[in-house]
Amino acid sequence: MTTFTWQRAVIKVGSTLIAPDGAQCSGRYLLSLARFITASREQGKEVILVSSGSVAAGRGKIKVHHRPSIAEKQAMAAIGQTQMMANWSRFFDFPCAQLLLTYDDLHNRTRYVNIKNTLRELLNHQALPIVNENDTVAINELKVGDNDNLAAYTALIAQADTLIICSDVDGLFDQNPQQNPEANLIQAVEKIDESIFALAGGAGSAVGTGGMLTKLQAAQKCTQSGIQTVIVNGQKGEVFDALLDGQLQGTLFKPVASRENSRGQWLKHTLKSSGKIIIDAGAKTAILSKGASLLPSGMLEVSGSFNPGEAVQIAYQDHVLAKGLTLYSSTDLEQIKGKRSSEIESVLGYSYGEAVVHRDDMVLV
Ligand code: GLU
Repeated sequence: MTTFTWQRAVIKVGSTLIAPDGAQCSGRYLLSLARFITASREQGKEVILVSSGSVAAGRGKIKVHHRPSIAEKQAMAAIGQTQMMANWSRFFDFPCAQLLLTYDDLHNRTRYVNIKNTLRELLNHQALPIVNENDTVAINELKVGDNDNLAAYTALIAQADTLIICSDVDGLFDQNPQQNPEANLIQAVEKIDESIFALAGGAGSAVGTGGMLTKLQAAQKCTQSGIQTVIVNGQKGEVFDALLDGQLQGTLFKPVASRENSRGQWLKHTLKSSGKIIIDAGAKTAILSKGASLLPSGMLEVSGSFNPGEAVQIAYQDHVLAKGLTLYSSTDLEQIKGKRSSEIESVLGYSYGEAVVHRDDMVLV
């Protein structure tokens, strides 16, 4: 067993624990987990839950005899979400707080800051934040899509030191345990690389050993930002007893970096890039060696279509060097690329500042 300590954790609980028979909420697996949460809080630790199960919990209430449509699933989520919250509330004497997030909310700086502030207030007031994706409004490309990755984003926003993924398997195995009884549990992973992704069926594959792929993606996001991640079997009460004793029965993914500042994390992991700016050699040196902002004079080409405030990649030749928030739209940049900052106003008729991407809004990748 591995020794395990933490102070602020995001605990992700999957649908198989909340609604094990796939049609309604159940307390079957939640009692030991709830006891673990209460006892941890009594020890002065902080907990944020990311709970799945709204669709599964609502499934029994919307009768369909075919594969549910998107709208039907959204209706299930709307019904199931309240049941899921009520289910959790039964276990606790302190208030449970609902946060429903979409990819967009994590992507927008203002909303990101609001989420962060709300989480902080909730923890300050001893409430238990319970996060889920806002399934009724988010579809496909607007979605984070799975709660493992949502939990990773939540851990980044909340500046947690730990992500605990409660699954229905014991952890990561060196072979598929369903097919091979000889498979061994991997107790600790130093670094998540291709060989680790290969155990889940490969990074580009959807066929994982029990949804392991998204768990590894989540673990990668977190460990790269200094957040230790564990996968445990949430169906086993003894797992939580051991955790309370500081012992881990499961797989530990060790952090590979120190925790960066939250803005850097948000820029690097949460934000999708809407375009790319190709820069010249002078701008490359200024950005990499002098910590400079990107000025229009250093720009060679712009690709993609974006508005001010969106994220763009900054590349030299074929290499992406940085990611940052652009102050100008792609249309504006086409007109000012290669020009001096002092010319911006005369070319566009206005200026948002001399930099295209300010250093404070940039992170090297
Ligand atoms: N947000 C989905 C739900 O509550 C779950 C997504 C997932 O399990 O990854 O049903």
